[in-house]
Formats: sequence, structure tokens, C-alpha cells
Amino acid sequence: MKRVFSGIQPTGEIHIGNYFGAILNYVKLGEELGKNSIYCIVDYHAITIPHEPELLRKRTFDAALVNMAAGLDPSKVILFAQSDVREHTELGWIFSTQTPLGDLERMTQFKDKSSQHSVLAGLLMYPTLMAADILLYKANTVPVGEDQVQHIELTREIARRFNNRFGELFPEPLAVHNKDALRVPGVDGQGKMSKSKGNTLGVLEEIDSIWQKLRVAPTDPARVRRTDPGNPHICLIFDYHKLFSDLDTIQMVEVGCSTAGIGCIDCKKTLMKGVERTLVPIQQRAQELYSTPDIVKDALHEGAREARQIAQQTMQEVRDALGLLN
Ligand code: SF4
Repeated sequence: MKRVFSGIQPTGEIHIGNYFGAILNYVKLGEELGKNSIYCIVDYHAITIPHEPELLRKRTFDAALVNMAAGLDPSKVILFAQSDVREHTELGWIFSTQTPLGDLERMTQFKDKSSQHSVLAGLLMYPTLMAADILLYKANTVPVGEDQVQHIELTREIARRFNNRFGELFPEPLAVHNKDALRVPGVDGQGKMSKSKGNTLGVLEEIDSIWQKLRVAPTDPARVRRTDPGNPHICLIFDYHKLFSDLDTIQMVEVGCSTAGIGCIDCKKTLMKGVERTLVPIQQRAQELYSTPDIVKDALHEGAREARQIAQQTMQEVRDALGLLN
């Protein structure tokens, strides 16, 4: 039986890299696996760096809302906030007692972040909580970005160590990633789209604001004049066409660019049609959900109830295996 778990960071604006890289995949997996696709907004992870309480609350809510507006149906999957299911921290603690300090200290993400901030103990323990998130549901498949692969490796190690010591309880989950979707470039043309780089196009961003960013976005530098042919394969606008436009438009742009048949501004205007076709319906659904927030809150409560049923069963087995009084 395939069971998927994925953590959603409540980090504020959700951009098209998140949409094409993760959310669309969540929707597809939800259709395929139903309640065996489990999505958790990881608010306990978010507090491993300094945060504003009101902002965290809003971002957790927004993360649920945007995923729902983008097509994730909470009646088909399990969608909930991590802090609503206390078993995450309970299992996280247990794993921290079974994980050598050295394993945590060598995590690249910890090393990167700890060189920038003063370090909170929770940041070091992040991977044991993440292992708990996944293994609490005995998930065997974890869709992740490349930056999380090392954490999944450690999760497998934690599962293996636990199973060897206390009996076979957990699967060793596999990290899977959608290679094309991971490469959504930032609008500045300087690598991957990411909020920390400020090069995003937001899923809920006003269409005019998206246009203002695309209008000045870099294109193939060889196209100095309108009559200069270009190479669409080195242009981020063409990458966006592949996400937003239909096949005929993509082919038209490919030929038009390389024969100087179209100019860059026309190419960008054509792209905007696809952007609007994709994002406007999501933005409309989001507006509806903002005006009826109880729909989102109820969905999260129900998701937490469903998650808890699985989590409590696992914790029963873990406590038995560990020799805790049940
Ligand atoms: Fe890029 Fe389009 Fe200009 Fe070609 S025509 S360089 S694909 S913006």
C-alpha cells in the first residue's frame, strides 16, 4: 500500500514554484490515493527560527487556504496542521533519544542555518521531528525538494535503527521528486524561484503585478533587436510558457523566437494569457474561502481528527515496543 506524507511550510506567500512543484502533485496524488495522501502544515517546524505569533497563525491558515483554492480537496485527502496532532512532538522526542548527536550536526540545512543565526536546540532536532511526521503515519513515499533528500535519508536511518532495536514497526520511506517541476526559475533569471531571493510570482499576486515583473524579466540577451533570432531554450519566459501555455502556443513561441517571428513583449503578452487562465480561477476560489474562513478551519479540524486516528494507533505500538506503560 502506497502512503504519501508531505509537509507544507507555512512560510508566507505561496508562489508558482510551490504550485507547479508541489501543490499540483498533491492534487494528483489525492485523486490516486485518497486518504493515503497526508498533507501536514508544519507549524512546529516553523518555530525553530524566531517568528511572530500572529503571522504564524495567519500563514498556517493561508497555507491551507491556498492549497484548497488550488484544487486540493480536504474531503479526499488528509490535510491538517502539525500542532493539532500532539503525537508528532511525542514521537519526535522519542526519536531524539535514539539519534546520535553527530547525525543531526552533520545535516547541511542545520549547518547553513546555524551559521546565520544563533542556534535554537529545536533547529538541531528538526530532522527527528520530521522523521516523526513521516513515520507516525508509516508513510513510505515522501515528495520533497532536493534540499530535503538528506533529511529523508536520516528518516530512513532512524526507522532502521528503531526497527533493529525494538522490532519491525516502521517502513523506510523513499524520497520522490518531480524533476521538471523543481526547476521553476525565479523571475530574475538567477536560479530557482524562492521567497528568500525575492524572485517569486505569487499564486495570489495581482495579475497586473505579475505582468510588471514579467515585462522587465530578462530574455535571451542575443535578441538585442526585434529582428535578431533568439534561443528560447535559454530563456526563462519559455520555461514559464511550458508551465502555463498549451502545446500549440509553446510550439509557436519556439519557432517564432528562433526565427525572430515574434518579439519578446508579444511573447510575454501571450504568456500572460496562460498565467491568467491558470491563476484567476485560483484567486477567485481563494477570495471565496477568505470570506468563509470556517470552511478552511473545519477542514483542518476534520483533517486533524483523521490524522490523530492513525497517529494514536502508531503511538500505541511505539509505547509498547519501548516498554512505556500504556
Ligand atoms: Fe524569450 Fe520569448 Fe523573447 Fe524568445 S521571444 S527570447 S522565448 S521572451
